[in-house]
Amino acid sequence: PKFTIVAGARPNFMKIAPIIHAFQRQKKAGIEVGYRLVHTGQHYDKKMSGDFFEQLSIPEPDANLGGGGGTQAEQTAAIMVAFEKELMENRPNLVIVVGDVTSTLACSIAAKKLQIDVAHVEGGIRSGDLSMPEEINRMVTDSITDHFFTTSEIANVNLRKAGVPEERIHFVGNTMIDTLMAQLPNFRKPQGEMFNHLRPGNYFVMTMHRPANVDQEHSLKAMIDAILEGIGGLSIVFPVHPRTAKNLQNLGINAANLLLCEPLGYLEFNYLVKNAKGVITDSGGVTEETSVMDVPCITLRDNTERPETTLLGTNELVGTDPKKLKPYLDKIMKGEWKHYQGIPFWDGKTADRIVDTLIKTYS
Ligand code: UDP
Repeated sequence: PKFTIVAGARPNFMKIAPIIHAFQRQKKAGIEVGYRLVHTGQHYDKKMSGDFFEQLSIPEPDANLGGGGGTQAEQTAAIMVAFEKELMENRPNLVIVVGDVTSTLACSIAAKKLQIDVAHVEGGIRSGDLSMPEEINRMVTDSITDHFFTTSEIANVNLRKAGVPEERIHFVGNTMIDTLMAQLPNFRKPQGEMFNHLRPGNYFVMTMHRPANVDQEHSLKAMIDAILEGIGGLSIVFPVHPRTAKNLQNLGINAANLLLCEPLGYLEFNYLVKNAKGVITDSGGVTEETSVMDVPCITLRDNTERPETTLLGTNELVGTDPKKLKPYLDKIMKGEWKHYQGIPFWDGKTADRIVDTLIKTYS
């Protein structure tokens, strides 16, 4: 069988890496399987894309669609046009999309319209919050997906409620955690003088890139002020997402313990997370990684599509009101946080389960 794997943006790369490695192992074992890796070009910046290919040993993509930039619709359209052409030239039995980015949506539509099957890795999760583009991407993708590879029982329930037949739901776990577990021994401290004084437990890490948090300068400032006030002089490392950079610059915040830097490589970022006192974020993937590494995590959102991270992990939904933050930070400072209880199938072997299922289904 022939498979096309799609990746477009930063949170896709750690999800596809183990799937590609599992395909490589099958090939080595003599199984006849073909796969093409297509990069849509949604993220093209080296710090948001190229570095991850290097660090996670992802082979050069077989095609790059150059679909970055523009509005949501412009990007969706550009990726659809280019991916349709790619599929007509190299028709697979199945297209594999991961996560919830624009590329996930665009490529699943283009494939399905050519009557090519679609597998969605991380299918079935829902926040219920349609103000986030990711939720729309999830809903549309799942409405035309043939095979759902799910990360949690909650995702299975969502799919069953939507009428998806049981045999199309494959509860396999989380490929992002495959990458985390495989790379744990390779984590390394980032280079640079600003990181020299960081020791396990004497600093925080934060990331912010959701429009609701970063697009309004005054609310971005209020949140950062509240964070700085709540961490009692400890340092906080803030690798700034391109989306956040401009507004942050305009604020001109100048605090010696706020360590601003460009987006970090995967190995450096997760080194810092693993050793942090706590993490403050509006990312989805980061709440999964902090849970498995048992690092306290505050999410600056009102909802999550990954409720297992709050039920069994270390994640707390705190919302976007800066005034709510202090008691949670106090708890982290006092070491009174909940611990990771284990999430079923988040065991580092998810990609093998996916690839086994696909080869059985399509051979
Ligand atoms: N990440 C990284 N460097 C950074 C910030 C994040 O390598 O400076 C990784 C992080 O470990 C996780 C992924 O990027 O694997 C999360 O991506 P992002 O927050 O962009 O997306 P989301 O999960 O919110 O969709």
